[in-house]
Amino acid sequence: KPGTGPDNVVVIGLGRFGGAVADSLVNLGHEVLGIDSNAHIVQDWSDRLTHVVEADATDTEAMRQLGVQDFSRAVVGIGTHLEASVLTVLTLAEIGVPEIWAKAISVKHGKILSSVGARHVIFPESEMGERVAHLITGRMLDYI
Ligand code: ATP
Repeated sequence: KPGTGPDNVVVIGLGRFGGAVADSLVNLGHEVLGIDSNAHIVQDWSDRLTHVVEADATDTEAMRQLGVQDFSRAVVGIGTHLEASVLTVLTLAEIGVPEIWAKAISVKHGKILSSVGARHVIFPESEMGERVAHLITGRMLDYI
């Protein structure tokens, strides 16, 4: 079972978004438990994160066995698969993870994630689009 100190984060769904978050957290010195249901993805990440496990994050018992309830922070990078995204956030909330960050692909998706327990909802494409608009017009200072 991975360490669950204050610097540790669990990242679920190691696609482009979740993978980038996990990679950056490791580079910043955090311990990261990565979870993905795809064996190939787990294999790809096995030597890059502190621990990587193949599991279905909607399976409450599996998450409990991995000790996910002992983490204070979780990131859910599952996006396209709406049902898996919602059920994963619900599972994390039910087992008592307090700080859940979750990626949404639409406004309504984001509302569902908030209502089932995500404390922070991220919209990667629209947020980055907004940033780029400010960057290319030289108005980044207004934006910050
Ligand atoms: P991105 O754009 O960031 O690559 P995406 O929005 O297309 O990702 P998905 O493809 O739905 O998101 O999921 C991202 C990752 O989450 C995939 O690697 C997938 O295997 C994993 N995943 C999907 N469902 C589950 C689940 N129930 N439990 C664990 N991992 C899952």
